Amino acid sequence: MKVDIEQGSGFCFGVENAVAIAEDSLREGEKVYCLGEIVHNDIEVARLTDLGLKTITYDEFEKLRDCKVLIRAHGEPPSTYEKALQNNITIIDATCPIVRSMQEKIRKVAEIARDEKGQIVIYGKEGHAEVIGLMGAAGPRGLLVTGKGDLHRIDYSRPVYLFSQTTKSRVQYEVVAEIIRLNMEKISHDLPAANLKVHNTICRQVSGREPRLRDFARQHDVIIFVSGRNSSNGRMLFEVCLKENPRSHFISTPGELNHKWFTGASSAGVCGATSTPRWLIQKVAEIIAGK
Ligand code: SF4
Repeated sequence: MKVDIEQGSGFCFGVENAVAIAEDSLREGEKVYCLGEIVHNDIEVARLTDLGLKTITYDEFEKLRDCKVLIRAHGEPPSTYEKALQNNITIIDATCPIVRSMQEKIRKVAEIARDEKGQIVIYGKEGHAEVIGLMGAAGPRGLLVTGKGDLHRIDYSRPVYLFSQTTKSRVQYEVVAEIIRLNMEKISHDLPAANLKVHNTICRQVSGREPRLRDFARQHDVIIFVSGRNSSNGRMLFEVCLKENPRSHFISTPGELNHKWFTGASSAGVCGATSTPRWLIQKVAEIIAGK
């Protein structure tokens, strides 16, 4: 059976950068703590744990003093940096540059929004680390919407600055933006042009993958999607594959492969999330090919 790996699969630039920063700091031999899992992938976390990286919770972070803590690609709210300063913690900042620049933009917009009673609406997943960081940057003017069901919480008579978590689906973000626009239009036809600012903050590394994955899923008899179960980007991209190819299967480890999935198939495609290491995707492909 022919087995192909989707070219765009593997860590995105931000995660690759964070893992490289972690590896560099561990090489210096000092203990490094990581606030939350560096990547939503158990196997990669286990590999870095073996190298000496210790993943900690927010409760554990509160109790730490005089040490080094790595901030992962998702970024953190300002309160984390303040706490580190109070407790003499050296921050190793591996925030993805794309996320950092969005946080800065939100901070600037928050100042404008304060004067005009505007709302900074962030479309994202509740509790997601990146979203917590973005909401922290937005401050009291921030409003999280997780989907269409939350949009009634927006005051459409006031300015809206719309941002999206970087890994959300572009199509769904456009739907949310359009509903907001239509709701503003109900109040006054000219209101959306004056009061709605939609910021294009979906990461290209993710949005560019959707159309490519669609083609890839169509071109193969069976699709194996490799991702951590707690990766929202993984869930979203798997749904893209499943929609195109009903013989798509989600696995987190090579041990979850089931030979029955390949019955009668002449081709298999292996792909993954932006948090799936390339080496793991390759390993899965080799097992399917019987190497
Ligand atoms: S998905 Fe994009 S924004 Fe998010 S960490 Fe990766 S490169 Fe950065």
